[in-house]
Amino acid sequence: MHKIITFKARSFHSLYIHWPFCPYRCHFCPFVALAGQDQYMQVYHDALIQEINTFIKHYEQNKQRIDTVFFGGGTPSTYPNDLLLDTIAILKESFDFHEKTEVTIEVNPGTVNEEQIDLWQKAGINRLSVGVQSLKDGALHSLNRLQSKHDVEQLMLYAPNYINNISVDLIMGIPDVSFEEWQEYLTKIVQWPIKHISVYFLTVHEDTRLYFNVASGKVQLPSDDFMVDCYFWTQAFLASCGFEQYELSNFARKNFFSRHNSVYWDRKPYKAFGLGACSFDGVKRMQNEKNLIQYIQKATLPDGPIAICEELTDQQIRLEKVMLGLRRSQGALWDDIVVGLDASKVCILQSEVDTLVNEGLMTCDKRVLRLTQKGLVVENQIIARLGL
Ligand code: SF4
Repeated sequence: MHKIITFKARSFHSLYIHWPFCPYRCHFCPFVALAGQDQYMQVYHDALIQEINTFIKHYEQNKQRIDTVFFGGGTPSTYPNDLLLDTIAILKESFDFHEKTEVTIEVNPGTVNEEQIDLWQKAGINRLSVGVQSLKDGALHSLNRLQSKHDVEQLMLYAPNYINNISVDLIMGIPDVSFEEWQEYLTKIVQWPIKHISVYFLTVHEDTRLYFNVASGKVQLPSDDFMVDCYFWTQAFLASCGFEQYELSNFARKNFFSRHNSVYWDRKPYKAFGLGACSFDGVKRMQNEKNLIQYIQKATLPDGPIAICEELTDQQIRLEKVMLGLRRSQGALWDDIVVGLDASKVCILQSEVDTLVNEGLMTCDKRVLRLTQKGLVVENQIIARLGL
């Protein structure tokens, strides 16, 4: 009998559930998303439940205590109510939830209503991650992000009555949003009753519509100087409003850091279910099938619908630890960086760190390396200079 199960973590406390359906395809989107294919929602949901049940049947450890759950996508706010409640019920049966379990769902404004949020809250969802991105409708629409400022403002009126832990995602560098408009929008956003803000740089991923539009000159991206100015202003402004920057892109009010994301950044194990979903068992990273048909066909296999399974090398682990650590205010441990390196390599690294400290891009205190505000904005270049 086939008893091999690829996910080997003896314990894990976080779950990710992927809902890939979207009402439109944003031009910048690199995610596993299915736009205009709602007819497959039921069959996908059935496969997802099968994947969860099959995992539970073959997982050899005790019922796991779950501290965080994240419904991501795609657009999980389009998950039909009865199906979502079904999934939550199966998860609660299969895992050990407790009163402090953080349960987050991603929400796209314009795809949700008040009754739904009421229902989610009753089902145990206690955190919303709202994809605001910008308050400039025209700029969003030209990237095929078909939501409106009105949708967002309505949501912010009723959602806090049900769920008080609300995070918003913003994208910095959207074409046609000026520095003054960015300032105006952020000034408005901090007045909402929200606890957390994620600010991402607009990234042009290959094979997206945005990539081709930029390559053909149809879309012009803002300059690097513009981005740096916006980022520095945002750091200072959010700090003055009581949002602590605890990661390169993440700002939170006291005690409202994202517990789920912290699991990723701490490199702790987590189990993910759904199309293209990525799990980590502490040693291996695994990704599920991204093709819907393949995913459905493999959902009942004992190993799950895994397409890729990679055991990280020592070098990859070191690089992950440095990259994840340097992005965070808590920093990266020097001992994690140099473990297993020979003396000459450690010497070169030490000298590069000294240079970065002298340039004001990094601090080194009690064997912990941290990027300064100036360093955060060039994090990629700093990682490259460390040559790990
Ligand atoms: S809503 Fe999110 S997942 Fe869906 S297409 Fe847009 S960016 Fe991608």
